[in-house]
Amino acid sequence: MSSTEQRTTSSESLSYDVFVNEEPSHSGQFLPNGDPKGGSPVASTLIYGGTHAVLTDPGFRAGQAGALGDWVARKDRTLTDIFITHGHGDHWFAAGLLAERFDARVVATEGSIAQMHAANSARPLLWDKAYPGIPPSPVTAVTVPNNRFTLEEHDLVIVEVGHADTYDNSVLHVPDLDLVVAGDVIYNGAHLYLGESVLVGGLGPWREAIDNVAALAPRHIVCGHQNKDLDDDAARTIAETRQYLDDAEQLLRTEHSAVDFFNAMIERYPKHVGRTVLWATAGGLYGVRGKPDDDVAGILLAAWI
Ligand SMILES: [Zn+2]
Repeated sequence: MSSTEQRTTSSESLSYDVFVNEEPSHSGQFLPNGDPKGGSPVASTLIYGGTHAVLTDPGFRAGQAGALGDWVARKDRTLTDIFITHGHGDHWFAAGLLAERFDARVVATEGSIAQMHAANSARPLLWDKAYPGIPPSPVTAVTVPNNRFTLEEHDLVIVEVGHADTYDNSVLHVPDLDLVVAGDVIYNGAHLYLGESVLVGGLGPWREAIDNVAALAPRHIVCGHQNKDLDDDAARTIAETRQYLDDAEQLLRTEHSAVDFFNAMIERYPKHVGRTVLWATAGGLYGVRGKPDDDVAGILLAAWI
């Protein structure tokens, strides 16, 4: 397992570094273009001062957790908290391993905690079928009063932004770093997962979630899924995420099958990582369109396998 260290930005006394895991292997077959199925690289952010640190979204497989934990250990700080941005399992199934290794608290919003339980229910239907090597994932996350906690007396503010790629997305705002850790509200050179937009009547809520992030006026945004070679520029990543939603909405109107949509999006975004995510979006949205009376959640889950 290789890992990537990148980008360090520091204020007076806080800094952050980003660790991007490799794209996970998938036990399924192939995408329509012949690529083997995979997933999307998950970015974990370590925010740290002179002695203490906070980690976000620690990934989902045991192997990833080991590599991430070794990277965290090399920073030689006391890890106090692990913050989870939202309930999708790829962001937190490994949280327990890291929490145990560093004796850290796991923090999330009440909404995310409910979604974490939902993700555990979906494990046998999706996660364990597609991605072997996920450790036990009891939900141990707790909320913090007023959605605020601190790192060496600097405020870390949890902002609930509503529905983006799933219900109850949140982001972590670090005002002293001009930083937002945006989870799956903003993406950076990676395909967005749009499947769950059918549960909320389209992409309007996601656009509002982006507006909520933009209102924080950060300079830096760490996206939950990203091409590790790209920077953390907030204006660019916000603009590109809005554009992706516009493009997808347009092509969902003009393309008549999941394969056509998949190919058309790849033509527009040839360098984006996470084509398995694009295919899950296509399979989910066109699957629901083709069978409007079937169980929507079941169709969305099956599109990942
Ligand atoms: Zn995700």
